[in-house]
Amino acid sequence: TRTPVNVTVTGAAGQIGYALLFRIASGHLLGADVPVKLRLLEIAPALKAAEGTAMELDDCAFPLLRGIDITDDPNVAFDGANVALLVGARPRAKGMERGDLLAANGGIFTPQGKAINGHAADDIKVLVVGNPANTNALIARSAAPDVPDDRFTAMTRLDHNRAISQLAQKAGVGVEDVKKVTIWGNHSATQYPDIFHAEVAGRNAAEVVNDEKWLAEEFIPTVAKRGAAIIEARGASSAASAANAALDHMHTWVNGTAEGDWTSMGIVSDGSYGVPAGLISSFPVTTKDGSFEIVQGLEINDFSRARIDASVKELEEERDAVRALGLI
Ligand code: NDP
Repeated sequence: TRTPVNVTVTGAAGQIGYALLFRIASGHLLGADVPVKLRLLEIAPALKAAEGTAMELDDCAFPLLRGIDITDDPNVAFDGANVALLVGARPRAKGMERGDLLAANGGIFTPQGKAINGHAADDIKVLVVGNPANTNALIARSAAPDVPDDRFTAMTRLDHNRAISQLAQKAGVGVEDVKKVTIWGNHSATQYPDIFHAEVAGRNAAEVVNDEKWLAEEFIPTVAKRGAAIIEARGASSAASAANAALDHMHTWVNGTAEGDWTSMGIVSDGSYGVPAGLISSFPVTTKDGSFEIVQGLEINDFSRARIDASVKELEEERDAVRALGLI
């Protein structure tokens, strides 16, 4: 029998946590044959709610679930962690200045990065979901100097999945016929969903669609502002789809991309495509055997270049702001 994989989830008592934990425990994170131990990190006022979720997890009698620990101490939560899903973050409150938001998140992601550095397993893989995800990942990354760059990632998979779905609907095909969509840049309204290299049933997606007005005025804003549209419709922010994307991100990272396809992940830039090295920005990546590589050699047209540059500029501003706060 396999040794259980230690999976740490922060913000475990929140909405995304509630949509995430049951699917982790039923095998949708790592596979139907991989036992897991859950470590739930919460802030003290939310520990009781996390215990309630743990009671429900017990009540599912999931065969793969080999234990649940609940704590408000990051050093305990990340001890021996193989996979970490950093969901809890300080949301932007009305009227909050960006500097205050980033400082509050520094207070969360710096100690978590240090705890990962000091206590996580050697094969630790980190996914940051909590917003501003790219910059929170940068903060955690810089607090963990002994952990390699390629273990810290930020989630743009929900944007990626949203783009696939919108494109499939426009082209009148099933989602399985859409390949090689890319999200570039920041997980924010400036993100750039790129279909110039995407394929629809084996044909170039931009040629199939052949509608630049739709691309600029419908597709890109629909994908980038989907979160706000969901809040407007549901009266609450997306939770199940965000949890689903977190599972997809980690499952793909561990188990690999399909031949002839790629995914999008926020990763530490190596300078590819003119994205300054060290920024955590979304790229097209292929994954294999638990590691990933940026897809190289894509031709970037002027339309794409301007949009990638705008999103990267926003990431540089966020980086400069957290640097000024002494967080990186
Ligand atoms: P959610 O579970 O709904 O969201 C958690 C985070 O995910 C938010 O930062 C949210 O950003 C982000 N997120 C990323 N992508 C998406 C998406 N597509 N849709 C929606 N959210 C997205 O928040 P809750 O308030 O329900 O729960 C947060 C929990 O985290 C609370 O229980 C709190 O106690 C806990 N927490 C734990 C910490 C810790 O463990 N140290 C630290 C801070 C909080 P956005 O706000 O921009 O929507």
